[in-house]
Amino acid sequence: MNCTSCQKPMQGSLLVCAACGAVQGDGAAAIDYFQALGVERKFGLNAGDLEREFHRLSRRLHPDRFVRATAEEQQNSLRATALLNDAWRTLRDPVERVEYLLKIEGHAVGEEHAGKGKSAERQPPPDLLEEVFELNMQLEELRMSQKMGETAEASVVADLTAAATRFEAMLQTVDERLAVEGAKWDSGESRAQAASRMIELLDRRRYVRNLVRDVRETLKTAA
Ligand SMILES: [Zn+2]
Repeated sequence: MNCTSCQKPMQGSLLVCAACGAVQGDGAAAIDYFQALGVERKFGLNAGDLEREFHRLSRRLHPDRFVRATAEEQQNSLRATALLNDAWRTLRDPVERVEYLLKIEGHAVGEEHAGKGKSAERQPPPDLLEEVFELNMQLEELRMSQKMGETAEASVVADLTAAATRFEAMLQTVDERLAVEGAKWDSGESRAQAASRMIELLDRRRYVRNLVRDVRETLKTAA
């Protein structure tokens, strides 16, 4: 891709030409978040580098710098800034980055993956079936006693609190495994396998996160 102004090959971010400083026009709408930030399309990005690049580009594209520019240049700077902000919000979060990268690589992620109306977050991962069943019974018990205006049984509250902590630790493990699979994908080996594992991990993450939220909310009203 060449700069729309000086025609030199673009380097780094595709939003702004490193050679002449021209903010790119309409064509920039089709560029992805990695191209916007001028970073490699991979999972393992260095957080510090990413942030530095974001701030540098933000200053470069800032609409205040274009007050005396043509209306078209002003429009370009506004559009590029909006895209840069979206890119930053998505890529700085490791989990959102995984979802985004898998999507632009053509993988169905989340609800898309589970099929319409069959949201993945409603189906417990097979290895958690039993534990989730237990947990739901206790949640039900707690909600019931709340409805009856009774004090919840201390053992139920204690069990649920312990379960929430256990599931939170599980989220941590999922994130670590995502990083491992991401590194495998980045290395270029068995990408398909790494991608399908990451999709599975994302389903697990979504399910467990919702579960923890439910438990924490119910416990809060019980306190
Ligand atoms: Zn240029």
